[in-house]
Amino acid sequence: MKPQPEVISNADVSALSTFRLPARAAELAILDSVEQCPALTHAEGNELVLGGGSNTVFLGDYPGRILLNRIRGLAFEECGEDVLVTAAAGENWHRLVRACIDRRLHGLENLIMIPGSVGAAPMQNIGAYGMELSEVFERLDAWDRDEQRMVTFEKPDCAFGYRDSHFKSTEPGRFLVTSVTLRLSRRFQPRVGYASLAEALLQAGIERPTSRQLAATVMQLRRHRLPDPSRLPNAGSFFKNPLVKASRAEALIADHPELLHWPMPNGMIKLGAGRMIELLGWKGKSIGDAAVYPNHALVLVNRGRATAAELLQLIEAIQTSVEDAFGLRLEPEPRLIGS
Ligand SMILES: Cc1cc2nc3c(=O)[nH]c(=O)nc-3n(C[C@H](O)[C@H](O)[C@H](O)COP(=O)(O)OP(=O)(O)OC[C@H]3O[C@@H](n4cnc5c(N)ncnc54)[C@H](O)[C@@H]3O)c2cc1C
Repeated sequence: MKPQPEVISNADVSALSTFRLPARAAELAILDSVEQCPALTHAEGNELVLGGGSNTVFLGDYPGRILLNRIRGLAFEECGEDVLVTAAAGENWHRLVRACIDRRLHGLENLIMIPGSVGAAPMQNIGAYGMELSEVFERLDAWDRDEQRMVTFEKPDCAFGYRDSHFKSTEPGRFLVTSVTLRLSRRFQPRVGYASLAEALLQAGIERPTSRQLAATVMQLRRHRLPDPSRLPNAGSFFKNPLVKASRAEALIADHPELLHWPMPNGMIKLGAGRMIELLGWKGKSIGDAAVYPNHALVLVNRGRATAAELLQLIEAIQTSVEDAFGLRLEPEPRLIGS
């Protein structure tokens, strides 16, 4: 085990973000064990942690150090009827979900095929097909860069919300997640309430899916709706679905009955940003090589040689168009570095 992370100077990091805009970093450090954390003494604000780069878009060169998290490991611990699964932050999320399904540990089926690393999953409380990470989250371990020590966060300390957490909003950049523990069940209770999932299962004639059937259906839906970043660079949903008060949502839906909307546990209403963008005719439109994916208006893609300027123009044009039509400012979901 190396005591210090390997460091590469003036590194090309374009391929470390799934949107693949050209970028270099002054330094790229590859972290492959928790024991290397104390060696991370870079100046605050000048260091960026990266996992799979599927929620990070480089808009230019990064003047500081990028820390690539490649800490690996997986452990299972019996806990009554449940099993606590601890995965190191550099593990691939999709592979973790598959490993759990193979061991008949349930609760992650709806979150299969989300790209990226385990360590990034709590950052925006990843969610899909009617489920969020927070529902199976138990705790995480992290390196506290301010206090230079390991800390543990239990679920109530994480302030999970819709695509949000303490780590993303309250103290961004302070904690480097080193592992995440999930509470999974040996009993499979399918979560099939999400409309498009329920519809796909109905069409396949599956009334009560097995764990593998549920995961396979989610993968089929994802393949249909989302471009594979290895073929068409993208960062998944590019804008967050806006959350509004019920009264505001009612007024908007009365004016625009085609809008998609979902009630949230906190009484707010989530409105479908993709449908807004689609209604305004953006599907398939482009500025240079930055384009709106024709199959899914919420996804922006890099058709090959997109530049940061083209992407920024497209973002701004979509935001302005949605604001003019619906009075809501869409916020990008991925982290834009260098804006
Ligand atoms: C095709 C596609 C589909 C997607 N579908 C979904 C979806 O269904 N649901 C969903 O929620 N998201 C989705 N995403 C977004 C993305 O996959 C998730 O946000 C994922 O968790 C990002 O993981 P990553 O390792 O690639 O993160 P990165 O882009 O590497 O990092 C994201 C953020 O987390 C921080 N970070 C990363 N690792 C750590 C760490 N160990 N400690 C501290 N901070 C860290 C980074 O600094 C950055 O701010 C999709 C993306 C793509 C490209």
